[in-house]
Amino acid sequence: MLKEIINKFYADQSRDREQIHFYITDAGKCPRAIFFKFKKAPKKEMDPRILRLFDHGNYLHQLIMKALFAADKLHVVASEVNMPPQEMISGRADAILSLDNELYILDIKSMNSMIFRNLTAPKEENVNQVQLYLHYFKIKTAILLYVDKDQLELKEFFIEYDPELCNRLLDGFKILQKKIELDTVPLVLNDYPNNWQCNYCQFREICNLTGRGEINWRQFKEKIKGETEKVLQQNL
Ligand code: SF4
Repeated sequence: MLKEIINKFYADQSRDREQIHFYITDAGKCPRAIFFKFKKAPKKEMDPRILRLFDHGNYLHQLIMKALFAADKLHVVASEVNMPPQEMISGRADAILSLDNELYILDIKSMNSMIFRNLTAPKEENVNQVQLYLHYFKIKTAILLYVDKDQLELKEFFIEYDPELCNRLLDGFKILQKKIELDTVPLVLNDYPNNWQCNYCQFREICNLTGRGEINWRQFKEKIKGETEKVLQQNL
């Protein structure tokens, strides 16, 4: 009984909200999956267990921040800092720290022991995200702090601002924004369906139905009217 109540709580929280701009976590992600999110395409429901894991990650952030707020060697300038207002991307950095008169963006990520053990370099998607924080906050260095949520071990990586990478990411967003306006479904990822993102993609079924190439979203929806729901129910 409690299980159902708790699962419903998480399922309700994950209900689709209208997406009107990009989130910083979209940086470097599959453009087609982001397109589907904007268009509220049919998708596989997220497992409530995964949603609880995300929530658990938030508690780990608080645990780390408690230690940083108490430290004398550094100063937490601000925590949970919204990105400076601009039209394209929204996001919130975990903290801005000051140490020896230098400012740092802090981004905290938690993961299971197995992934943590094998982590020898920061993950590409996390680097993309902190690069955009550096860009918009105009700070030179970020710290990516990884937490092993099973053993509570820590690993940290320093990331220097890379303007070229930021420009590439921002250009990607601009191109995708155009496709969203024009209702053009972007191409699949080059290594679809073997890319790791495809394995976890909530839009996998609708993506398979759409085909690999660009296609007009409205015409596609007309073509498969009724069929989508049937196929999704069979496969999800
Ligand atoms: S299945 Fe792969 S290519 Fe298709 S939308 Fe998802 S991540 Fe992108």
